[in-house]
Amino acid sequence: MTDDAELDTPMPRLKVTCTSVDCEKNLHCFLKKRGMPEELHGTCRACNADLINWERVHRRDATDQKFVFAALKNEMIRHYMWHIDLDSDALRKAQAKGKEKLYNSVSTRLRSSIGKAQGAFDGRQTPMQGNAIYYAQHATATCCRKCLNYWHDIPTDRALTLAELAYCEQLVIGYLEDRLPDLDPQPRAQQPNKKRSSRRR
Ligand SMILES: [Zn+2]
Ligand SMILES: [Zn+2]
Repeated sequence: MTDDAELDTPMPRLKVTCTSVDCEKNLHCFLKKRGMPEELHGTCRACNADLINWERVHRRDATDQKFVFAALKNEMIRHYMWHIDLDSDALRKAQAKGKEKLYNSVSTRLRSSIGKAQGAFDGRQTPMQGNAIYYAQHATATCCRKCLNYWHDIPTDRALTLAELAYCEQLVIGYLEDRLPDLDPQPRAQQPNKKRSSRRR
C-alpha cells in the first residue's frame, strides 16, 4: 500500500479521467482493460502493479473503511479527488446546507445517480465539481456503476439493494467527514446583507 503523504503545495486542477495513470508516482488505474488476461484482472491496466487486496475490499465491511480508503487512493482518479481543494461553489453549497442536511442528502443523490442498473450514460452521471458529494463519489468509487462494480464488487445489471446503498452512503459520509471536518451542523447564513438588515436590539 502506498502511503498517502499530503502534498505541500495545492494540487493543480488537472484533466483527470477514470483511466488516468501516473504509475511512476504510484497512481494507477485498476479498471480491467479489454483483452486483459484473466490472471491480470485487478492489477493496474498500465503497469500491472498488483496493489489491492480485492478480497478484503470486496467484503464491503463498513468497519474496515480506513483500509478501503487507503486502497482507493492507489488509483489516480480517487487520489486526485481526495486531495484536490473543493471548488468554491461546492464549499458554499456545503456551508449553506450544513452538515446535517448535506449528509441527509447523500442517499437521495446516490439513489438518483447509481441506484438503478447501469444505463447508457453510465460514467457521466457524476460531475467533477460543483458539489462536495460529487467529489466524495469519485473518491470512493461510488460515482457510476462501472466503478462500483470493480471496486465494490456490485453487479451492474440490477438496482442496488438497500444494504449496498447504505454501504455507499457510509463511504461518501466518510469522505465528507475527512474533507469537511469543520462544517457547521446547521446551515450557515448565506447573505451577509441579511444579517446587517436584521433589527438591532
Ligand atoms: Zn500503474
Ligand atoms: Zn465512476
